[in-house]
Amino acid sequence: MLNIASFLDIAAPYRAIFLDSYGVVKNYQGLIPGAPETIRLLREQGKIIRILTNDASRSPEQQASRFAEQGLPGILPAEIITSGMMAKLFLAQKVKSGRVAYLGTTAAASCILQAELPCVPVGSVDLENCADISAMVFLDDEGFDWNTDINKTVNLLNQNNIPVIVANGDKLYPVTQSDVSIATGGIAKLVESILNRKFIHFGKPDTQMFNYAFEDISREGNFMREEVLMVGDTLHTDILGGNKFGIATALVLSGNTHSKDAANWISSTGIIPDHICHSIVG
Ligand SMILES: [Mg+2]
Repeated sequence: MLNIASFLDIAAPYRAIFLDSYGVVKNYQGLIPGAPETIRLLREQGKIIRILTNDASRSPEQQASRFAEQGLPGILPAEIITSGMMAKLFLAQKVKSGRVAYLGTTAAASCILQAELPCVPVGSVDLENCADISAMVFLDDEGFDWNTDINKTVNLLNQNNIPVIVANGDKLYPVTQSDVSIATGGIAKLVESILNRKFIHFGKPDTQMFNYAFEDISREGNFMREEVLMVGDTLHTDILGGNKFGIATALVLSGNTHSKDAANWISSTGIIPDHICHSIVG
């Protein structure tokens, strides 16, 4: 039996709320009705809000304007922390020369990678002349030919022992009530298993994103971890990541985890949220 409570009751004791985006604030149809009202109430109560998203295809600025267009104004780019930002930091610190190959759209590469290094889509890499490729990034599930470019990626990585970065570890995402699409992390998993290699995954459940968010709110005041609540719709990313980081977690049933599956999934995975609610509304 699930112990389902109201989100505002759950959130009441916490001073900072980390919200996942997709499945929590929005879904395939747009904003979840009532979400802007909830966020307004949380702000009125003086809570600090951060959006922690594994969407690596858009910059925080682009995601903030998208929220505003959809009817949720007032989310600042500085309040949005994306797995793409983590990948970008890693590249800036660790990869100093050569070209960065990527799977994804040109738009995602220009806003996420925008580092000092030239970026090239895998489709344009000449496998006979690729010794200067210094890193590979799995960026997005769009913008390339699945038939040729995944195969090319396998060949590129088979020939070159370079760091491989997965900017979004999500394996799938819902596109309707019942259908899902394969996300970047799913493609990366496939290539990892073919090559028998482990890539560097950014985004939830990785602790780096939680660390970044916690350090970020700590600039606004003194926070203890037990004063922070992570709210998400996915056990393996949001809830596992929040649990590992030592903050409280709330599972919402408005996205990847449906109410009919929640109890089974929680017991079969052993990923146990501290709280469960239908959605952030109510
Ligand atoms: Mg989600």
